[in-house]
Amino acid sequence: MKLSDLKRLTDAEARAMLEKVRWPDGPHCPHCGNCDQARVGKVKANPAKGIREGLHQCKECRKQFTVTVGTIMEKTKLPLSHWLYAIAAMSNAKKGVSAKQLQRELKPETGPNLYGNYEAYWFMCHRVRHAMRDDGVKALLGGDGKTVVADETYVGGKPRYRHQGGTGRGTAKVPVFTLVERGGRARSFVTPNVNHKNLKEHLTENVDPKSTLVTDELLLYRPLGKMFAEHRTTLHGAREYARKEPDGTVTTSNEVEAFYSLLKRGVYGTFHHVSKEHLQRYCDEFDFRWNTRRMSDVDRALLIVKQSAGKRLMYRKPKASDIAPPM
Ligand SMILES: [Zn+2]
Repeated sequence: MKLSDLKRLTDAEARAMLEKVRWPDGPHCPHCGNCDQARVGKVKANPAKGIREGLHQCKECRKQFTVTVGTIMEKTKLPLSHWLYAIAAMSNAKKGVSAKQLQRELKPETGPNLYGNYEAYWFMCHRVRHAMRDDGVKALLGGDGKTVVADETYVGGKPRYRHQGGTGRGTAKVPVFTLVERGGRARSFVTPNVNHKNLKEHLTENVDPKSTLVTDELLLYRPLGKMFAEHRTTLHGAREYARKEPDGTVTTSNEVEAFYSLLKRGVYGTFHHVSKEHLQRYCDEFDFRWNTRRMSDVDRALLIVKQSAGKRLMYRKPKASDIAPPM
């Protein structure tokens, strides 16, 4: 199967795909956990009587369920084919896809779009981001002989703030702290302030102390560097992203620069304006794509489907400013 096939599924095929990925051994009841196939029945759909497509009945607890119960797709009004399309598109787009773009691509060729307004697609994208978030037990990044690059960047900020100093510390932009293991995974954190306490917390929770830590020369990193086997620095101000050490090795922060360039192109180019409140989810999205960059496109999309279970999330009602479509 190709990624483009996932975008072309009918609603029935999309449901069958979800069932196959979520229930490889047959349906199991999300209410009582029953997975005895002799004790789960399928209920025939009957729109006239309001019986939904894909309904199953558990013969243990007598409750009914579909494949979307307990997932990011629960109670959705959008067709499942749109969800699979969005998952396929978002899993593959290096710089992200905007909700507006998805809405345009999914709009029927003729007639009104019966499915949803911009808000519905905006919610869908955030729920897909939520499924991208890695909630599993997190192994520490780095380790003996491994290198972790830590850096911070400042994202967003409306143009009216730019005259107040442009980039970097002390602007209205939101700080994002990112850890990238050389050749490995990335983790990003929206942080209210770049200070000793906040960075120490993220470093302690996420990086093996046996690692070599690479940072820029911000004074803040000096005491933090002492927590690790070794601390090396690169000079950002001098545009020195690679430094040859006396022992012949090279210290670079290229990984995190590459990561930030994708994130920033996503925020400025695709999403235009990301509110502070939602920035962590965009970071989760970019972390996810970075961490799965060696997977095939289809496997990456199906991983989102697998991770969509147990992730149902009720969002507060969005403010108008959250969902204003980009100009
Ligand atoms: Zn049950």
